[in-house]
Amino acid sequence: MRVLVTGGAGYIGSVATAMLLERGFDVTVLDDCSTGHRDAVAGAAKFVEGSVLSTDSVALALTGCSAVFHFAAKSLVGESVEKPDLYFDVNVNGTRNLLDQMSKAKISKLVFSSTAATYGEPEVIPITEEANTKPTSPYGTTKLAVDKMITEEAKSGLAAISLRYFNVAGAYKSKAGWLAERHNPETHLIPNLLRSTRDKPIKIFGNDWPTKDGTCIRDYIHVVDLIDAHILALENLASGQHKIINLGSGGGYSVTEVVSAASKVLGRDIPTEIASRRSGDPAVLIADISLAAQCLNWAPKRGIENMVRDTWESQNASTSK
Ligand code: UDP
Repeated sequence: MRVLVTGGAGYIGSVATAMLLERGFDVTVLDDCSTGHRDAVAGAAKFVEGSVLSTDSVALALTGCSAVFHFAAKSLVGESVEKPDLYFDVNVNGTRNLLDQMSKAKISKLVFSSTAATYGEPEVIPITEEANTKPTSPYGTTKLAVDKMITEEAKSGLAAISLRYFNVAGAYKSKAGWLAERHNPETHLIPNLLRSTRDKPIKIFGNDWPTKDGTCIRDYIHVVDLIDAHILALENLASGQHKIINLGSGGGYSVTEVVSAASKVLGRDIPTEIASRRSGDPAVLIADISLAAQCLNWAPKRGIENMVRDTWESQNASTSK
């Protein structure tokens, strides 16, 4: 079976591409390399350089495919506040174009990269898929709009699963080497705290949150566990159904706990400094992952230390190149 991976040159998409190939699938990648990296795409994948907004590129990329993993999107909360039009265009119109081209090509299997940002500030922890959806950023709003679009599309036969990610971290050692986060600028906690030095300590965004140690709590999931769930989702798609499923670890770590875990893995202190709160950050985000267990027979296997260690090894491998 050939799978189209949109956004396959990005962090999560490149891991999906490598893992699909290693499990015997054929893969085509569609990416405009606006934020992704051509060299992250496994050599055995077919590569189409183009945008999800381009009818011709999407139609070409879909040739010979039977299913789609749709990762291509703009995905920074802060940027989405500054450039909402860009987010609506790429995320919503891009997916509309993809769905239209899939329908023309009679491809009816879709696994969509959705997000916990669709829920907004949670009223109840852990967050189930039944929770209210009140996104607090254009990023979350566009992903929610796509989830709703897919629900409508399923009424005419599409088989779809939206996976709502919590905090994805870690790296994957593919046959060709490490695949890891290479964002520019990098805003995520784990890659940044590993680069912390005495001269440039990692900033902790607020220690006055209503949590046990005053720092924000997030639910971190290893990228390999995340892609395992995508492959299980592909195998569990049902015609005319759209399921929405959370993916996290089902437990939370405060920023201070992540720093401690990193310090343990590295065997040294991580220099930190307290900074003001980052706008748009909720205090606590933890997923209820019972639906993923029930529908996909999936459970995460890799913990926070594993995420830190793999990120660390991938950063060392790339600096020693
Ligand atoms: N965070 C932090 N310092 C940083 C980056 C992140 O204190 O340099 C905090 C952030 O406020 C949040 C958590 O770490 O509570 C995870 O942030 P990240 O940007 O990794 O993911 P997000 O939750 O925004 O998707």
